Amino acid sequence: DCAAPCSLACPARLDIPAFIGHLAAGRHREAIAVIKERIPLPAALGRICPRYCERVCRRAGRTYLSADGSQPAMPGPQEPVAICALARFAADVDAAEQEPYVPPRRAATGKRVAVVGAGPAGLSAAFYLLQDGHACTIFDAHSDPGGAFRYAVPESRLPKQALDADIEVIRRLGAEFRMNVRLGADFALDDLRRDYDAVFLACPRPGIKADRRTLRTNLEGVFAGGKAVSGPDPGVRAVAAGHLAATCIHQYLSGHEV
Ligand code: SF4
Repeated sequence: DCAAPCSLACPARLDIPAFIGHLAAGRHREAIAVIKERIPLPAALGRICPRYCERVCRRAGRTYLSADGSQPAMPGPQEPVAICALARFAADVDAAEQEPYVPPRRAATGKRVAVVGAGPAGLSAAFYLLQDGHACTIFDAHSDPGGAFRYAVPESRLPKQALDADIEVIRRLGAEFRMNVRLGADFALDDLRRDYDAVFLACPRPGIKADRRTLRTNLEGVFAGGKAVSGPDPGVRAVAAGHLAATCIHQYLSGHEV
């Protein structure tokens, strides 16, 4: 196979064999670097993802025989590889480091992007746009970032400390957070279009439709995600939609066709 079925089943297309290979060899830094190429919030998703990848794991249900085929080499049938738990382990080990991994950032482009919505899609978009050298300001009506991860998932499933560790890396990359402000009440979309080079609406806005492939709207420089793109899953699909938004916006800001 060219790509592992588990990686293809992950909506974020995480390179699962690569990160597990690094973990198995004790290369924790490399493991988290591979994970963060696709998953900006691994401590959070490592606790709440529905584990699409594990459903297609080839190890599941297999019985492995000894070399001569006479007896089981392992008590079978086998469970799928615990991919989600391994990603969570890598994230937790990294968060406990004195200097957790922060991806490298390209030279500043001088471009500014406004991201409306500090949930998984908005945070993910900012995470990748910042690495591309664009300045990002994230606006949200809540007092703390995290969106559905913070306000819809109980602490028993997703401790705030784990989510905060993920968000801290985005802050260290240079994200500016403007909390307790609401689009339409405290600022208008036209304000953002005037003050920023591009806008990403990570939360659904009535009357604004986006192309599902490019996330472009009919407003110049305005891209939109939300449930129309990521579906009802507020987790890894939203994170993947944020990554797509960052890719499209970076292309737009670089003067390329989106
Ligand atoms: S647990 Fe979820 S986010 Fe992690 S690799 Fe599997 S599908 Fe992707």
